[in-house]
Amino acid sequence: MHRFSAVIGLLLILLAGCGGRGSRRFVELESYGMDDFEPFKKLLIEDEFAGHPELYERTVYHLQFEIGEPVTEIAVHARIHFTNREQETIEQIPFFLYPNLTPGRLEVHSLSVDGTAVDPELRDHNSQLLAPLPKALEPGHAVEFFIEYNLSLPLTDDGEYGGFGYAGGVLSLAYCYPMIPAFAGWNHPLPVPYGDFIFNEVSFYLVQVSMPDELILAAPGVELGTRQADGRREVLFAMGPSRDLYLAMSQEFVIETERIGQTEVRSFAGKDAGAASQRTLSTAVAALRSFGDRFGAYPYTTLTLVSVPFAAFGLEFPGIIINARRLYDLTQNYGGIPAPVLLESTTAHEVAHQWFYASVGNDQLLEPWLDEALTQYATWLYYKDRYGGSASQGFFQSLENRWNRVDRAEIPIGRPVHAYTPKEYGAIVYGRGPLFIDAMSEHLGEEVFNNFLREYTRTFEWDIVDSDEFEAAAEAACNCRLDDLFDRWVGNGSQ
Ligand SMILES: [Zn+2]
Repeated sequence: MHRFSAVIGLLLILLAGCGGRGSRRFVELESYGMDDFEPFKKLLIEDEFAGHPELYERTVYHLQFEIGEPVTEIAVHARIHFTNREQETIEQIPFFLYPNLTPGRLEVHSLSVDGTAVDPELRDHNSQLLAPLPKALEPGHAVEFFIEYNLSLPLTDDGEYGGFGYAGGVLSLAYCYPMIPAFAGWNHPLPVPYGDFIFNEVSFYLVQVSMPDELILAAPGVELGTRQADGRREVLFAMGPSRDLYLAMSQEFVIETERIGQTEVRSFAGKDAGAASQRTLSTAVAALRSFGDRFGAYPYTTLTLVSVPFAAFGLEFPGIIINARRLYDLTQNYGGIPAPVLLESTTAHEVAHQWFYASVGNDQLLEPWLDEALTQYATWLYYKDRYGGSASQGFFQSLENRWNRVDRAEIPIGRPVHAYTPKEYGAIVYGRGPLFIDAMSEHLGEEVFNNFLREYTRTFEWDIVDSDEFEAAAEAACNCRLDDLFDRWVGNGSQ
């Protein structure tokens, strides 16, 4: 063989490698190193790693989901790289297994730490797994877990669920992996059902899903490759920096997309959703515009919206939000409020969580006001920006109405979820909370307040704040003391 044909031969091999049935070459999850952050850069509108070198030390999850037959049985391989970022030595690491707090199940079959099999301890109704480390983990050192587990999704009678389940042809996978919470939350009590469950640091997720061909995957992040063979489809995607991971699947999903700046917004809803999916999309785009202008740019190149049979109205995840499917029937009323109104306010609220929760994190169990009050307040700003001052009055009145449900009792907004009754939680954190933010805005003056919110989201991006840091940031912005204001509204009780 002479040289020329050898080159042709090499070219043919390269072409065959790039071709296959998909348009892109599919690189298996296993081929990626745990220290490979390149895939995540496609998801970010600017180089976040340059401004946040600490991100390289965050936990990396490589998750491989195999959707079974039936689709409610899912086998998962997880490889998790964890670095000890604390000042102290760590002897064991907790993983939260939240599906075990639902009628569904997450069952771990095997667990190894740096190649050594270990016996974990399960506690709190199997919702926490304590992994003992064969060797104590010094500050700055890393450890790697291999976990094989199964997910069993509950089939719910009333056709709705709390984020983890299968109903109406939609698989909804909230909390679908063993998650390491933020260090400060390692000994938290069990979350209560009417509050949010998550108190995590941002992490990185590289995820491969193998599923029956007919299913359509609604995922956050950026798709790196897809391939089809033998009636199955595999999708690889990257999500992060992110505090959590959510995905949904259905054969019924129809996708609508719209672009704003560098971000593609994708709305997934059933074939029967009609105009409601388009409406959700335009709400999300208007909300991204409003919040981006006010608080700083939305960091990701994608935002995914999904309609699922969900018991509440909506739920936020980084880069992906879910709305209850019943809100997509625009002829309906819920509690006297028309579905189109609820769909719009819920969508705007969950989009605002991309700043307050996803980007700037907080302890959602002990200080839920930090994200919920700001998110409710931001929803009012969305109405103001999109429709003008008088049109936003309706939403502002809804905040007053919420507080009225407890007769405007001056219950502090700064308590943990479990310190409120369900009725108080909605009235105080979601009603009185945003009214406090409004009082703050009055006190500081609009310009100072707007600068504060912008500076706050920039300073604490990808980080975690607490109430004291929030107050200190506001005091720095106004160059004034806000103790009286905070005592009157927030209280000093995180207990
Ligand atoms: Zn919320």
